[in-house]
Parts: sequence; C-alpha cells; structure tokens
Amino acid sequence: MAGLDDLDVRLPSVKPRVAVIGAGWAGLAAAVELAPHVRLTVFEAGRTPGGRARRVRDAEHTIDNGQHILLGAYQTCWRLMRQVGADQASALLRLPLTWVQADGLRMRCPRWPAPWHLLAGLLSARGLSWRDKGRLIFALGRLSLARWQVAGDPTVAEWLDAARQDAVLKETFWRPLVLAALNTPPEQASMRMLAAVLRDSLGAARAASDMLLPRRDLSALFPEPAVAWLAAQGGMFHFGHRVTSVEPVANGVLVDGEAFDAAIVACAPYHAARLLPAAIVPPIVKKLSFLPIYTVYLRFARPPRLPEPMIGLRRGTADWLFDRDALCGEAGMLAAVISAPQPGALPEGDAALIAAVLADARRIVADLPEPAWTRVVVERRATFAATPGLTRPGVRLGVQSLFLAGDWVEGEYPATLEGAVQSGVAAAHALMQDMTHTER
Ligand SMILES: Cc1cc2nc3c(=O)[nH]c(=O)nc-3n(C[C@H](O)[C@H](O)[C@H](O)COP(=O)(O)OP(=O)(O)OC[C@H]3O[C@@H](n4cnc5c(N)ncnc54)[C@H](O)[C@@H]3O)c2cc1C
Repeated sequence: MAGLDDLDVRLPSVKPRVAVIGAGWAGLAAAVELAPHVRLTVFEAGRTPGGRARRVRDAEHTIDNGQHILLGAYQTCWRLMRQVGADQASALLRLPLTWVQADGLRMRCPRWPAPWHLLAGLLSARGLSWRDKGRLIFALGRLSLARWQVAGDPTVAEWLDAARQDAVLKETFWRPLVLAALNTPPEQASMRMLAAVLRDSLGAARAASDMLLPRRDLSALFPEPAVAWLAAQGGMFHFGHRVTSVEPVANGVLVDGEAFDAAIVACAPYHAARLLPAAIVPPIVKKLSFLPIYTVYLRFARPPRLPEPMIGLRRGTADWLFDRDALCGEAGMLAAVISAPQPGALPEGDAALIAAVLADARRIVADLPEPAWTRVVVERRATFAATPGLTRPGVRLGVQSLFLAGDWVEGEYPATLEGAVQSGVAAAHALMQDMTHTER
C-alpha cells in the first residue's frame, strides 16, 4: 500500500490536531503515516505498545503475548518498519517457504524464482504420495489460473471437496495452513480470504512466500521503533489511558472531553463498540465471532535444540513448536502454538495442557527434561473468525472527522499484522483526504 507522499493530497495550511486511540499495529501504522502532516496524540490503554502483538512481562520472564510469524508478502509492514528505522535483517529470521512436520509433511522450497520454487518444493516434499502431490499442484495451479478468484463464497472445506483434496492432504497440508493463516478451521473459514493470502504469497515473487520469524520480542519489532520515531516527530503518547468517550462535534471530535480536529479509533471491534456513539457502531460488530490462540511457553535449564526453529505436529496437542532459544536468544525457551482448538479438544487446566505440550515436544527431542518454568498465555479473542459472508466496515464511519482502523476493518486479509497496518494506512489516507476537502 502506497504512502501518503505518493498521493495527490494538498494538505491544510495549519497542521490539524489528530487523536489515534489504540497503539496496536493498526493505530501505530496510522500514526506513522500521519505524523509529518498533523499534530498527533496517541492514547493507549496498556503500558506497552503493540496491542495483541506485544511483549508481556511476568516476575521472571519477558515473553510475547503470542508467538507470531510474518510473511514476505507483508509489504506494508516492511515499508513502515523501514520508515521508522526498524532493522528487519537483525529483527527477523527470513526462511524460504518451509513446512516441516515431525510426523507428517516435510517440504522445503529452494530459493528459485516463482513458481518454480513452489513446484520444486512440492515435488520433492516427503510425507505425501505422488497422487496427493499431483492433486495439490493441480488445485493450486487452477486457483492461480483463476487469478486467485473463487466463485461464490464457499468455506475452505467446501472448496477442498470440490478440488478433490483427500483426507491426508487436508490433514497434513490444508488444515495447518488454514489455521496458521486464518486462525479459523477449514469447515468455517472463508476460501476467498485464504485465496487473498495465497495470491500475495504463493502467487507472487518467491520472496513473498518467505516466512519471517521474529528474533526479538514483538514490541521491539515495530511498535517501539514506531513510538520512538513518532516522538521524534513531535507525537504525544498517553500510555495507560483507556479512553472512555469519543464524541463527534461540529468541528471535530472530543476524546474524553479534549478537542481534536479528527480521530482514528484503532481498537478491536468489542472495544471500539464501547467507545463510539451507538448510532455509528458498524452493524458487523454484533455479528463477528472470535477464536482463541493458546501459546504455551516452556523454559528448560538447557536449550531445547529443536531440529528446526519452527516445527509442526500433524497429530499433536500443539500445532507448531518454536525454538525461542535459537531464534531470540531466550535461554532454554520453547513456545508451542495451538490455533483455534475445537471446543473441548484441549486438556482441562494449565497443568494438563502443559503436560500434553511437553509430551509433544518429547516426540521431537526425546531427552527433554522437566521444564524449569512454564506459562500458558490464552488470547480468547485472538482474531475474528474469518468466515464467508463478512461485510467489513470501511475506514470512514459516516461521520465527519471520525475514522476506524484495525485488523477487522476493510481489506481482504484475515486478522493479521498486515491487515492491521493496511487498515491504519487506509484510515490515515482517508482522514487527510477529508481534511483537505474541508479546508478548500
Ligand atoms: C496469540 C496471537 C497470535 C497471532 N499470530 C499472528 C501471526 O502469526 N501473524 C499475523 O500476522 N498475525 C497474528 N495475529 C494477529 C495480529 O496480532 C492482530 O491481527 C493484530 O495485532 C491486530 O492489531 P490491531 O492494531 O488491529 O488491534 P490490537 O492489537 O487489538 O490493538 C488495539 C489497541 O487498542 C488499545 N485499546 C483498546 N481500547 C482502548 C481504549 N478505550 N483507549 C485506549 N486504547 C485502547 C488496546 O490496548 C490495543 O493496544 C495473532 C494474534 C494473536 C492474539
């Protein structure tokens, strides 16, 4: 997504005062985009920037709110990180598309031009029969020929049945892919939304399908460099300030009674709904449902030494295990991710869940000792359920001077960092365009 400087926008002669509510990735993207052109104030309820993708601290350790992975396709993330001076090369481990399950599919794509990298990766993959490889290549090839457009609005499961993908392919390739990309099981997930992610990753240049694993905590990745850059531009921050009212008035917006020329509400839908006047809350808020992500951290007295920095399990409690010792230098730390588990599928209680994840890890590294420290982080509303038929709200709320941003707003992507920053940039552009028109 292009920056404001690329647009034909004539800016007001006096810099307007703009409030951004929420310093998650969407709010910070909007703030970075706006900063050179406005007098900016950012309100954030928490003490740390980053929202759902941030660092959390407990008495002993600093961990992430949840393990994240990024894709080479996240163009807006990369542009904004460059803009605020965040060093991508040291902050992220860049791997060519690699899909390693300890008990299933093993695929490594070479660094060849697209689509040959994917074809070579699929043909040389282990854990799939030649028949399954053929069916998978045929299904992806047909989708690519259709320019990643899907007729109707099917679920992924419906589309897979029509594409004659058999049970092994579904279990070992599609289900983990859909859960990782959409955090929604294939039976509920929108094939259109998946196709948009596939188009921009598998369907683009090879580097777009690269996987990028954070080597730092999530707040250090983009949110903190963004805050530092914004502060240097004169941006004001109020951390620990939960805004309670946003009120459109004749010439702007009152945020907790303070007058601004405009405001961007960059909160999750359930928080935005509490802030906005009832008449302008987008109707979709009541229809959205949310799915959880569990991250189980296990710290061992010595490095866990997984064979890969990220390794999956076809039949495990955890979907993926991450070697955070090798990735981020967090001594002895391993993170296990469980995306959108079926209700009742997980063992009850933290102790049972930790034991199940430890058993998973021991299937990969047999001599792992008992962990010295454990922590279960549950984000019950990690993402909206990426189901068919969602009509997402636009960045304009239909009220002058008030705009919306967040991973659930506009756009084709599921709830992801890229979807969040794209919406922030779109809200900033809409705000500047509207202010320009008001000025004339
Ligand atoms: C466990 C987990 C794993 C994930 N894994 C991935 C992944 O691998 N890859 C990927 O791309 N995406 C992943 N995601 C999704 C990604 O984290 C989100 O899509 C993204 O962070 C959403 O950003 P946002 O700015 O839209 O919203 P949020 O992060 O929710 O930010 C909203 C901010 O607004 C603040 N706020 C709310 N109300 C108020 C108020 N009244 N006043 C002031 N501030 C307020 C909140 O404190 C918060 O900081 C994952 C999410 C989770 C939870």
